[in-house]
Amino acid sequence: MGDVVQFKRPKVSLLHKGNTLCRSGFHKWEVINEKQFDVKQGKLVTVYRCKRCAKIKSEAL
Ligand SMILES: [Zn+2]
Repeated sequence: MGDVVQFKRPKVSLLHKGNTLCRSGFHKWEVINEKQFDVKQGKLVTVYRCKRCAKIKSEAL
């Protein structure tokens, strides 16, 4: 019966790792809109979203 206890930790620490990475600025970016025209910048940009925290960023090409 005592053996079950050791399964408690892994998943929680994985979640924390993801959040910590995002807070440190290491997001898991995925492209959601490639070569979109940004009126404000007057040029084409690629829009990214973080898979973990859903933050959006755009990058000029
Ligand atoms: Zn993130």
